Amino acid sequence: MTADQLAALADQIDGRLDNENADRQTICEDVAARLRQLAAAAPGLTAQQRDVLVLMAADALEYRVEPVAAKCADCDAHPALLCADHAADLDRAERYRTVLRQLGVTEVTP
Ligand SMILES: [Zn+2]
Repeated sequence: MTADQLAALADQIDGRLDNENADRQTICEDVAARLRQLAAAAPGLTAQQRDVLVLMAADALEYRVEPVAAKCADCDAHPALLCADHAADLDRAERYRTVLRQLGVTEVTP
């Protein structure tokens, strides 16, 4: 469940509560149902899973990012000073970071 989804739900509640004639019981039931949907769609990680994910991510990012710092002869020859292989490494590292952000894991930053 993301902060955006929670904010959207809060806005929805505010909007419905503005209506004096709205049935409070129905609003509460709808909100509970929506919260269950959000929880089911984005199950959280246990602390143990999170710890392992952080270790895996640190290893994976180091493996993809470190060689780019060293570069290679192809990098030197490329107009952008980054060969296709090393550019692909950086792209993959960025995909890893995107998923980590989506999972709320922010303690891995290579
Ligand atoms: Zn290279």
